[in-house]
Amino acid sequence: MEINDFYLRFNEKPEYLYQAPSRINLIGEHIDYNGGDVLPCAIGLYTKAYVRKRSDQSVRLYSENTKLEVTADINNLKYDKSLGWANYPLGLFYILKSKGYSINYGLDIYFSSNIPLGSGLSSSASILDLTCYIINDIYNLGLDMVSIAKISQESEIKYNGLSVGIMDEAAIALGKKDSCLLLDTHNIEYKYIKIDLGKYKFVVLNTCKPRVLTESKYNERVYECNKALEVLKPVFSIDNLCQLKITDLDKALSLIEDNNIKKRVRHVVTEEERVKSFIDALDKKDINRLGELLKESHKSLKEDYEVTGDNLDTIVDLANKVAIGARMTGAGFSGCAIALVDINRFEELKEVVLEGYKNIFGYDAEVIAIDIVDGPNGYKL
Ligand code: ADP
Ligand code: MG
Repeated sequence: MEINDFYLRFNEKPEYLYQAPSRINLIGEHIDYNGGDVLPCAIGLYTKAYVRKRSDQSVRLYSENTKLEVTADINNLKYDKSLGWANYPLGLFYILKSKGYSINYGLDIYFSSNIPLGSGLSSSASILDLTCYIINDIYNLGLDMVSIAKISQESEIKYNGLSVGIMDEAAIALGKKDSCLLLDTHNIEYKYIKIDLGKYKFVVLNTCKPRVLTESKYNERVYECNKALEVLKPVFSIDNLCQLKITDLDKALSLIEDNNIKKRVRHVVTEEERVKSFIDALDKKDINRLGELLKESHKSLKEDYEVTGDNLDTIVDLANKVAIGARMTGAGFSGCAIALVDINRFEELKEVVLEGYKNIFGYDAEVIAIDIVDGPNGYKL
């Protein structure tokens, strides 16, 4: 994306350039809507946007990724399926206006992203956080980064109708170079943990398989967890499933009839434990323990939470031949995985994964080296 692309589309020069990263989650998967602790970090694949103020009440949006342009009236916004991707940025105008923030003229925004869309690296939270950051900056709303994350999540839930947790929006808004975020999704408290593992780095493995039916499966897991909580809440005096102690797990499981729901609870409770062990292993730089935990997390997501699928299982198995450990990241059902690898063996990892994957599925996967980066930023041109 060049300045000139904006000019060719909107016949004016842009005034600002902004960007927001994407994210991986190191561990703590599918527990951000169960009050758990998660360990995401922002990575250097970005949504970028050139922006110009308008003098009327229209928002004009274009995405180089979808090649679609949408114009909407900021006083007349409503989710409209036919507007597709544009519902993400439009939702922020709607939500912020409905909270009483003064947004009394429109914008032209030209988006472009090198994040694989719909692949579990949270391009949706990236474009939402970015839009919220842009609006906050241009209209001087005075929001801090936690508010930007919360409002973007609210927009994805209320405007786009997806019951997402806070992890993705927070991971991106609060991103910090070479650190992961330890985010307590119950109290929305966080701190940073330095990722300093020498020659061992996290890399991304993209199955390049488009996700299908993800939303309904995701919402089904949220529903199953809520069902389990209804039964367990009065017995154990808990507010969320992650507050259940590992020592109470067997008793809790004996109170649940449905076999699938039992498995979901087992994943949630053991995953919360793995997050704690992972933090300990990061602190001790215990590479082998980190690898074991990545593998255990994937196994639990595959067998108990049932959100992986053939492509993710295969890419993770292939990566484990060279890497210290690997697991799916994000919502799952295809999409991306991460692997922890001795960076001197990166080329070998790439070869084993790409060749093995193509032999099985007949199309290419991607292995991407990544940096852990800061959250959104931008400047006046
Ligand atoms: P993920 O967040 O894992 O990438 P989602 O399905 O949650 O997957 O979000 C992907 C959707 O977000 C896309 O289908 C599109 O509607 C929207 N989106 C994200 N980034 C962009 C972009 N740069 N341009 C247009 N739409 C985008
Ligand atoms: Mg998303």
